[in-house]
Amino acid sequence: EAAPETRSFEADVAKLLHLMVHSVYSDKDVFLRELISNAADACEKLRYEGLSDAALLGDDGQPRITVTLDAEARRLTIEDNGIGMSEAELADALGTIARSGTKAFMDKIAGAKDSGDSHLIGQFGVGFYSAFMVADRVEVVSRRAGSDSAASWASDGLGTYTIQPVDTADAPARGTRVLLHLKEDAASYTESYTIERTIKTQSGHVPVPIFLKDAPDAEPKQIADGAALWTKPKSEITAEEYQDFYRSAAGQFDAPALTLHYRAEGLHEYTVLAFVPETKPFDLFDPDRAGRVKLYVRRVFITDEAQILPRYLRFVRGLVDSNDLPLNVSREMIQESPVLAAIQKAVSNRILSELDKLATSDTERYLKIWDTFGPVLKEGLYEDFARRETLLGLARFKSTTSGGAWRSLKDYVADLKDNQTAIYYATGTDLERLATSPQLEGFRARGIEVLLLADQVDSFWVTSGVDYEGKPFKSVTQGLADLSLIPLADGEQPAAAASDAVNDFIAFVKETLGDAVADVRASDRLTESAACLVAPEHGMDRQLEKLLAGAGR
Ligand code: ADP
Ligand code: MG
Repeated sequence: EAAPETRSFEADVAKLLHLMVHSVYSDKDVFLRELISNAADACEKLRYEGLSDAALLGDDGQPRITVTLDAEARRLTIEDNGIGMSEAELADALGTIARSGTKAFMDKIAGAKDSGDSHLIGQFGVGFYSAFMVADRVEVVSRRAGSDSAASWASDGLGTYTIQPVDTADAPARGTRVLLHLKEDAASYTESYTIERTIKTQSGHVPVPIFLKDAPDAEPKQIADGAALWTKPKSEITAEEYQDFYRSAAGQFDAPALTLHYRAEGLHEYTVLAFVPETKPFDLFDPDRAGRVKLYVRRVFITDEAQILPRYLRFVRGLVDSNDLPLNVSREMIQESPVLAAIQKAVSNRILSELDKLATSDTERYLKIWDTFGPVLKEGLYEDFARRETLLGLARFKSTTSGGAWRSLKDYVADLKDNQTAIYYATGTDLERLATSPQLEGFRARGIEVLLLADQVDSFWVTSGVDYEGKPFKSVTQGLADLSLIPLADGEQPAAAASDAVNDFIAFVKETLGDAVADVRASDRLTESAACLVAPEHGMDRQLEKLLAGAGR
């Protein structure tokens, strides 16, 4: 047998491991969820590859995860008969940080002075390396499906790992065995009762059956059936089960703010189980953040890259399980399938209509969702022309007259002043500063509501030619505000035209400022301040101009 080869971890892994080893994060149970989820992923990958290459399954077609306790030796083993890893794959998967979530986690803690920021561990779900929260040594032995060689990986989490080929007799017949040498204070993870309860709550709904052996020579006992939760009738699933499933499938720690579970029948048959999270994922605005809805075909996991929902619904978690997509075609072919296109369309529409329903049936809950994900949903206003109406209906805004409450456009239009023909808005970065802008004086004097738009995305959609019920959106900083036809709130009429003195003054200002301004004119928008800057009628909004300047364009 070859001697073990010692290698150093990639710098980021070493940092992450340091954090795990010294973690004071109290909810250490998550390591178990992470390792079981890896084992289940490995079984699902094999199930998928086995579709085109049945030989990979050999005579063991039943996926299985086995957790073995050894209290005497203070060891915990998690074994699966999934896809397994070759020696090269072991080094690659367990020596670098491949997944973007973990990378983002590293970025986030990089700035933090205190590694006491360990609550972040739970928020992110940091994968395999979380094993080092409870173990001072981890050994992985793996044999890839269809391969006649096996390899092992071992580390104490302190900067290096060893890797070496091993005799197949010492490896699982197929798949991966992860052996944890538990730290002294983690001995409770060899207690059968603790482990069973933890697995049932955290991982009870992974789509692979889980067995528990109380001791190395004990009989395995099944503790989770591996039945896909989404195939059960809704009436048989409790809110708690949905939440557990959401947490284990999405790697989230919060609760779903909205759960949508239904079966579509008719032209296409599929099941949808989708969740809107309660809290904002940390990477929601990463440019490469993709959607998180998984595609299954008849319970076989196919891909999480099918982009089932449009980008502006990327916060939705869950899955679609299709009955009529072909199983034996490549992921690429599925992407181009008209069946998938139909599913994408229908599921997207359904999610928006559920949100719309919620807005009336449980306004408070809806507003919480809007508060959390509104800035993302608003991207759809310029990205998804076909659903713009629907999205405008879902949109809620703070305004100069709403006193901090959310207003819909329906509310806004219902309260239009006489002769008011546009929906007025002001964009900026800060609601409070926006509300005190002199640009708003003339509007306030007339009691006209102005929407206060403080999200980055606002500058983009408002300038994309949107209207609502025939009313165009108009910036208060842009062009003529056409306020002269709208009476002042106190009943006074504004001066019909500028006096000669004002005209003389305007001519003087124009001459003095020269090319620095495009125009100088009398305005109805001011009642107290002497002057303000506005953008040209058809030019860029001032906030958009600032944003683009900031982006270096
Ligand atoms: P993630 O699961 O998000 O990819 P992890 O840190 O949990 O991140 O795991 C890293 C990688 O290690 C996985 O992507 C996978 O390639 C590999 N891996 C971990 N556990 C197993 C396993 N039981 N079987 C096969 N591959 C595994
Ligand atoms: Mg994982």
